[in-house]
This record gives sequence, structure tokens and C-alpha cells, in this order.
Amino acid sequence: MLFSKVADSDTLSWVQSLPKTETHLHLEGALPYEELHRWKPAEFPRDPDFLHGEYRFQDFAHFETTLLGHAVPWFTSPERYHETTKAVIQKLQAQNVHYLETSFHIGILEIIGINGEEIIDAIKSAVPKDFSLRLFMGMVRNSYQGVGKKIIDDFPNWSALDGVDLHGPEDLPLEEWTERAWAEARQAGMEAKAHAGEFGSVENVRAVLDRLPITRLQHGNAVARDETLMNLVRERDITLDMCPVSNWKLRATSDWASHPLPRLLKAGVRCTVSTDDPLVIGNTVTDEYLAMAQFLGMSREEILQVARNGWIAAKVPEEQKRKSLEALD
Ligand SMILES: [Zn+2]
Repeated sequence: MLFSKVADSDTLSWVQSLPKTETHLHLEGALPYEELHRWKPAEFPRDPDFLHGEYRFQDFAHFETTLLGHAVPWFTSPERYHETTKAVIQKLQAQNVHYLETSFHIGILEIIGINGEEIIDAIKSAVPKDFSLRLFMGMVRNSYQGVGKKIIDDFPNWSALDGVDLHGPEDLPLEEWTERAWAEARQAGMEAKAHAGEFGSVENVRAVLDRLPITRLQHGNAVARDETLMNLVRERDITLDMCPVSNWKLRATSDWASHPLPRLLKAGVRCTVSTDDPLVIGNTVTDEYLAMAQFLGMSREEILQVARNGWIAAKVPEEQKRKSLEALD
């Protein structure tokens, strides 16, 4: 945990008592670092500086290089995905988190040389009965080439896939295939997400909202800079799955005071909080809640609303949704 030292024990136990969700997590970026250390201690030393609370990456490229350097050596087989999913869920359950939306990256299918349904099975077979996981395939804006073409043409037939997510750098153009693939995903009953407005502009978010039938924005920080965009996400009932600690450590926000979460929440935009890539950010869901209390100056009522939003956005049986919301009330 990054921020347990700055929180008082009362806040810590209050956060622990809330039934929570995690709805923005890259599975390759979710491997608990200690697993990596246990595997190759000489290569991955016990306490690297990037896992510390005060550490900030120089920029997105620096973060990405660090992430790939730690994730790529590990994710070499479906078994590794299976093991990782188990470890991730155990950590979440210990924090009173009972619902997870996570994505695997399309590129891994080519690297490992397996098909999509195999990886989905490896991940989903690791989920215990008392936990809900929905699985997304993440693609980047130029994924429709080489082997990627066949995978993207095929995925709408994968019945066990719950949705798609547009990952990665926002400076590449939004290509025509994305519109087709996202529309097919929706027709197949899948959820459709996209990363936008993390480092990208208001125009970037607007383009994604205009062209893709998304139900969820990943980050979406830039929405707070434009009144019409705020109206649009409210009208379309789009949830923003935000990651304040990731934003701070990657410098998507210059400082805590300018993070848009409190402002968006006050404006009635449905926001949740999640960890993004804890493998190199070092955060937990609990840290995200502590950050809301300590650094974003949010009241307990506001923080409770964020927890509620997670369950409102979650696709779980009505009974589970009702019970979780009642527990929060
Ligand atoms: Zn992300």
C-alpha cells in the first residue's frame, strides 16, 4: 500500500469496510510485483523506487518502458495469466473488492502464439465463485494490421469475451476499423470502453464519443474542461473509470489540486476509481480511496458516491447489486 502511513487508522478501517469495485485494470499491469521478485530476485530487486508513494515517472514513455520491462518477461503462457488472475483476485478480496473489470492486450496473443478464446478460458477459470470478473480485450489505435486483422475480425464471435477497450497513446489517429469493430462488439452484446482524455485533449474525447458507441470512458479527465462534454457523458449515461494515483504518478495531472475527479463528481458525472497498472505504480484500490480522502479533499459522502458508482456501473445480478448498494447506504 502506498498511502497507509499518511492515513489515520479510522479512515483506513472505514475504507476497508466499504464493498468496492475495480473497473479499470490492465491484467499485464496487475501482476503483484512480489511474484516477479520471487521468480527472479536478482533481476527484479525487492524494493524498486517506482513502487514508492512519492515516485513519479518522467512521462508516459518512461512509464510504458518500465511497465513493458516488467510485464513482458512474465506473460509467456496462458498458465501465467491464470496464476496472475488468481493472485490479483486474492489481493482484491482482502481489500473488500468483489467485482473486477480487467483487460488483456491483443498483442500478447501474437507474442505467445495462442488464440483469444484460450486466454479468456485461462483467465476466467481462475475466478472463484464468490467473485465477479468481466474480461475485455484491449487494442491500440493501430492494432488492425498483420495478425491483428484476423483477431479483430473474429472477436465478436467469442462468446466469453465481455467487451473491448481502446488502449494506449491518444496521439495516433482514430482509424475507420475501430468504428466497425466497436459497433460489432455492441451488436454482440459486449461492453465498449475507450481510453481518452488521460493526456489527450477535449477534442480527443469528443472524437471518441462521436465515433465510437462506448458506454465507458477510461480516465476521461479532459471531460472536466468542457461543459458540453460533461453534458454529453451525463446524457449518454457514460461512466468515467478514473485512476487518480496513476494520473499523479504518470503526470497526467500536474498536482493533486488540479485533479478533475471532485469537480466531475459535483457536476453529476458518474465516476469510479481504479488502479490501472499496480505492477509499476505500486497502488491498491485502498490507496485510491485514501488518496480521495487525503489528497483530493473529498468528504466521506463524496467518497461513498464513488463506491456506489462502481456498483451502479457493474454488470452483476440485481440481487448482488442491491446488497452492495444497501451495505454502502
Ligand atoms: Zn488504463
